[in-house]
Amino acid sequence: MNNLELNNGQTIPQLGLGVFLVENESDLKQSISNALNDGYQHFDTAAIYHNEAGVGEALAGSDIHRDDLFITSKVWNQHTTYDETIAAFHESLRKLQTDYLDLYLIHWPSEGYLEKWRALEDLYQDGLVKSIGVSNFEKPHLDKLLASARVKPAVDQIETHPYFQQTELHEYLTKLGIAHEAWGPLGQGKSGVMSDPVLTTIAAQHGKSVAQVILRWHLQRNTIVIPKSIHAKRIAENIDVFNFSLTPGEMEQIAHLDKNQRGSEDPNNEVWLT
Ligand code: NAD
Repeated sequence: MNNLELNNGQTIPQLGLGVFLVENESDLKQSISNALNDGYQHFDTAAIYHNEAGVGEALAGSDIHRDDLFITSKVWNQHTTYDETIAAFHESLRKLQTDYLDLYLIHWPSEGYLEKWRALEDLYQDGLVKSIGVSNFEKPHLDKLLASARVKPAVDQIETHPYFQQTELHEYLTKLGIAHEAWGPLGQGKSGVMSDPVLTTIAAQHGKSVAQVILRWHLQRNTIVIPKSIHAKRIAENIDVFNFSLTPGEMEQIAHLDKNQRGSEDPNNEVWLT
């Protein structure tokens, strides 16, 4: 497993397991147990996924030491004030059965995000979370946040896949020293990217699956990835991406696949955010 160093000196396993929409307790426990056996250490959840308690139970019931795990959660849009954010964080800690988080994110740049950031900064300064960051923040949101921030976000978790590459934002984040973390790295199984002919050809040349080629592309772009699956075979396949490399020519071919095809809500849409 490759680790990346964040802008505050903390490290993050570059690949983790996402658990969005995994609400069934036995699926959750089984997939986390499979993932731990396959060498995953990094788990990405959020209060709004309504599965933090299941994640906490699965991790607490494993024999992996807390120091060897990397746990991310996120504060949801309904919490708009400093106090609500602090309370939401402690609720996440309780459900996750841990006394600290590795990474805590503002889920969307929704109402009150500057005030929420002050709460995250205090949690960070109190040592309750090792790194803090944002999610679904675009350039205007980052600029507004940075104008008053005491702590620079370590991470921006944004939708990214070969049909929605976020090239400009990727470059801006790189310039700012904020790590780019890709959600929906495989196009959420609905973008069509998994049957792209260019990716299929590259996959065949390496004897790998399209999912593995996509994940490898993210890794070589220095992006953090958190693919989701509940199937043992796919969970194993998705972490088996550290034994091959894409050539510069293949990276270039994939760069040309961008269609600016967003699969989810637009963070610039104010209606969604309020
Ligand atoms: P994803 O791109 O990881 O796609 C998951 C889907 O891809 C699976 O349901 C399955 O259909 C398919 N898949 C996975 N592995 C495969 C394989 N090896 N072969 C074939 N198909 C495979 O989408 P996601 O779950 O939406 O995103 C990953 C994680 O990102 C989430 O679980 C969550 O933790 C996080 N996320 C964050 C936000 C946010 O707003 N911050 C939004 C969505 C997701």
